[in-house]
Amino acid sequence: MYYAEPVAKLIGELSKLPGVGPKTAERLAFHLIAQSKEDVAKLTQALKDVKEKIHYCSVCFNITEQDPCRFCQDPSRDSSVICVVEQPKDIIAMEKTREYRGRYHVLLGSISPMDGVGPDDIRLRELLGRLEDDKVKEVIVATSPTIEGEATAMYVARLVKPLGVRVTRIAHGLPVGGSLEYVDEITLAKALEGRREL
Ligand SMILES: [Zn+2]
Repeated sequence: MYYAEPVAKLIGELSKLPGVGPKTAERLAFHLIAQSKEDVAKLTQALKDVKEKIHYCSVCFNITEQDPCRFCQDPSRDSSVICVVEQPKDIIAMEKTREYRGRYHVLLGSISPMDGVGPDDIRLRELLGRLEDDKVKEVIVATSPTIEGEATAMYVARLVKPLGVRVTRIAHGLPVGGSLEYVDEITLAKALEGRREL
């Protein structure tokens, strides 16, 4: 009620962003109001472009401009290994290690009964579909070391192992409760190297 309606609307939309509370939303809104029309136009164009040009890869569910994504298309990558991650941003973390040259599969979430997210709500069925031809020899589960990430890893193992595919989990030593994206490259590379059977 303190703001003109367009300002209130902007603050409302900004405060829906992760990590943005009402105070930050207000600060961002006033910052945008003070900016030139050109600068704001650049921001709105960038927002429009990601929504129009970026899609999920139909194979691995990474975000991509072309489909399949560059990781699925690259003939130099090892098709016998699939690294399973929760979110597209986790692929960036794995790539930064420069240790991994296989394929990826993004679940777009993790199993979390508390939040009502079950196995059918993440891209598990699609993962199993990719294991139907005999090319894949190993699935490396690189979900986060959280309760949800661990539960998801166990579930993946239970589904995949009966198909005769080796299932490994990246090693502990990752900070418990953390997210893959905050782990430094060396720790993650070591976790990958020290992976164990599930
Ligand atoms: Zn892909």
